[in-house]
This record gives sequence, C-alpha cells and structure tokens, in this order.
Amino acid sequence: MTMCLADILFEACETQGARVCLRLPDGAVWHYHEVHRLACGIGAELLRCGASPGDRILVQVEKTPEAVCIYLGCVYAGLVYVPLNTAYTESELLYFVDDADPVLVIRDTRCRLPTEAKFLFRDELVEAGRSGARLFHPQGGGSEDVAALLYTSGTTGRSKGALLMNRNLVSNAQGLRGVWDWQDDEVLLHGLPIYHVHGLFVALHCAFFSGSEIRFLPRFDVADVVAALPGSSVLMGVPTHYSRLLQAKGFDARVCDGIRLLISGSAAMTPQLHALVEERTGHPVVERYGLTEGMILTSSPIEGKHVPGTVGFALPGVTLRIAEGGDDTGIGEVEASGAGIFAGYFRNQRATAEAMTSDGFLRTGDLGSLDEQGRLTISGRSRDLIISGGLNIYPKEIELLIDEMPQVHESAVIGVPHPDFGEAVVAVVCGVRALSLEQMRDFLAVHLARFKLPKQLIHLDDLPRNQLGKVQKATLRENYRHLFKNKGDLSA
Ligand code: AMP
Repeated sequence: MTMCLADILFEACETQGARVCLRLPDGAVWHYHEVHRLACGIGAELLRCGASPGDRILVQVEKTPEAVCIYLGCVYAGLVYVPLNTAYTESELLYFVDDADPVLVIRDTRCRLPTEAKFLFRDELVEAGRSGARLFHPQGGGSEDVAALLYTSGTTGRSKGALLMNRNLVSNAQGLRGVWDWQDDEVLLHGLPIYHVHGLFVALHCAFFSGSEIRFLPRFDVADVVAALPGSSVLMGVPTHYSRLLQAKGFDARVCDGIRLLISGSAAMTPQLHALVEERTGHPVVERYGLTEGMILTSSPIEGKHVPGTVGFALPGVTLRIAEGGDDTGIGEVEASGAGIFAGYFRNQRATAEAMTSDGFLRTGDLGSLDEQGRLTISGRSRDLIISGGLNIYPKEIELLIDEMPQVHESAVIGVPHPDFGEAVVAVVCGVRALSLEQMRDFLAVHLARFKLPKQLIHLDDLPRNQLGKVQKATLRENYRHLFKNKGDLSA
C-alpha cells in the first residue's frame, strides 16, 4: 500500500474525474477533473517560480475551490504545505514567515514584510496555473518525507510548527475511512476552515481518497449548513457548530434524513449537547479526538452504544496509554503511538524532545482515562489541571456537574493564583445571571469534596473560543489572575 500522499490524490482525482468534487452554496460545481487540472497547473507554476520538492510554501488564503487546488498543487509538486489562518495580522504573519522560512508565500492580498521570501498572489498564481504548463506526474516524496507543516493553535506561548509526514496523513485518512465505513457515494458537508487538521486532512482526504462530493461552504454559516443538509450524508463540525445549529429551527430530523454520520471533534462535546442533537435529529454524534501532532487518535463507534462524554476507541494502529497521574483517579496524561505521530517540531529539537517519551510515545498534553473496554475519556488539558492546597482538581469533573444546573448554558472551570491555596477554583458560567455562588456551591456540594467547590463565580455572555470552538482557558486565567490577589484565607 503506497504511503505517498501525492500518488494517492493524483490518481484518485484523475480516475474520478467526471464526478462532482466541490459544490458551492451558489450552485457552482467543480468536477474532480477541473480541480485536478488546476492543481497540476499550480504545481507546475510553483516549481517554475523556483520551488523544489521539499521546500516549504506558506499559504494564507481564504477558503475557496482555488485554495483547495493550491493545496493539491503543493502536494503534487512534493512541496511542504504550510497553511495559515487568514485571521492572522501582518505582524503575526511575520513570525510565521521567520519561523517556517518558506521559499514562497501565497496570499490573497499584497503586504510589505521585511523578508527574503518571494510573494505570490493567489489570483496571479491561479491564472498562471490555468494557462501555463502542467504536471503530468506527481513529484511526491516517500513515506517519511514531510508533506505539511502545521502550526498548533498556540493557546500558550507562540505556536510551534508540527512536521507531518506522508505516512502520518495517509495512514490517518485510511484509518478514519475504515472506522467510519466511508463510501464512494458519500456527500460530505464541509463548513470547517482548511488551515487546520480537521477541515484539511480529516475532511478533504476522506472525500478525495474516494472521489466523494463535497458541499463546500466558505464558512460555517448556520443557514447555509441547514440548506445544504438534505442530500448530505456526513457532516463534520466542532461542538460550537452543533450548538449553533440547535438554535436554528430548520435543523431537524427531516433535513438530516440523508445523514449517515454527524461527526464532532477538536473540542469537548458535553453529554447535554450530545443528547440535544440526538433528540433533534435522530442521530447520535460520532466523536473523534486527536491533535495536530498525532492526527486523529480515537473515534466513537459508528454502530453500537456510544457513551457521551467519551471520545471512543483508539483507531487501528494507534496505541494509547495513560501516564501515572500521581493520584488515585486513574486520570493522567494521554500518551499515544502509531503511524500518525508527527516527525517533530520544525527546527525545535527541545520542544520535540519534550513532546515525546523515551520509548517513543507522544505526550498529548491532554488528561484522560481509559475504561476497561479501552474507551477514552478526556478530562481537559494538563495545563488546565488545578492544584489547590496540593490537591489535583480536574476542571472537567466540575464543569460536567455545573452544566447539569438548569440555569447554566455552558461553563469553564479554571484555576487562578490564590495566596493560601496556590490556586483557587473559579467557575466561569454562561446562563442565568441570578445564579449565585452559594446556590452553585450547594448544588455541587452533594457530589464534590469541599476542596473542589468554586471559590468564585463569574458570569459571562459567551466563553472566549478560537475559530475551532476551543475554549481559551488561558485567556480566562489571564483575565482573572488577580481575583484573589489581596485576599487572605477564604475557608474552603
Ligand atoms: P489541535 O492540535 O488544534 O487539533 O488541538 C488538539 C487539542 O484539541 C487536543 O489536544 C485536545 O485538547 C482538543 N480536542 C480535540 N478533539 C477533542 C475531543 N473530541 N474532545 C475533547 N478535546 C478535544
């Protein structure tokens, strides 16, 4: 079985040429042969502009069919694709250009950056790709060659570039297609960004490997998603997408009639949200868990009982284990090995060494536990662990209970510095503002030891999230770090 991404994508696009590849909300359609042709042209143009296989190409462009062709063009030409969120400003871009050291930077618009890198503009590149030479063979690398450099979300410190090899991407796509029983006539509803593992690799590769149709939305717009649902068989989203869909009246069993799989990942989905989606659509949500550095590691089964609040079982070829947590909860850092584990951080041996155990497992930075059947539960990021009075407190345990309160829509539990306890538990809550700290503590006290009870309650309209729906706990911690600065003992 080939592990060369370029060979697989090139052949799939060529042989599935007559099928619909991208269908846009305005009804425009790109067939596989059109996508393939432009990708071959762009690949040739990038090589003509001075790039050689193995070179890094930094791409900061809006989500369009042409952007997909630029991605494929890079893959076909054996170039290392480095996608960037278009939300990054020019000064942020400078950091990534310095760090990734690309030979070419492709953007939608012009900018002046003090860099040696050569800039190409999307429209000009696409024009040249349409009219110039074409690649007739993929130039892709071997299984261990790097195919993409993806920057991590960087919720703490600056983001690091994760080097993903051909075999990481191919094995993961094949593993997911297997566990999700992906069919050639699948119709994928795609509203995710394509600068991230989820929308780029999970979604596009599953579809491209079998020539499936992609309903390609420029962004996750609830009305567009509801309009595109009839006839779609797979929807991939993040939990926030599902909670936003629930607010739309049209999101119901009728529009989901053709749906086979509702998939969620990139952030935790609460059991409440699971239940609401299933109640409304008649479909349980399939949850998958992973990270840029390790690709997708688990999925809940598509048949049989899914246990909400868990993220399912290891994908074929993935081994999971829990590092010693230091307490008796069975919770510890999740470690993983398998073909999806990255090659390391770009030009950062220290961070790479810190990310791996001595026997080659990736330290995911997530806390979790495995049940007897091998089902994984994620309890949060290890850096979100709260240590109060020397005791470990897992925010997820408290959030799950708070979310059960009828006054609460959603919650985030954080630890902030406290003069007595080291850290104190703070509950940040969206919902009914009249809810008091005492009411919450009374409710929680039935289930939780006293030291876990929040010492402060903060009401917000919305939790700060990034574009993939991940709650930005670092922002919350920063905003509330002085909460207990001048307080002495608050008896626990
Ligand atoms: P990224 O590298 O941007 O994909 O972020 C990966 C991180 O997102 C993981 O380390 C987890 O903290 C979180 N994550 C991804 N999927 C899930 C999930 N299904 N449930 C909970 N957290 C998740």
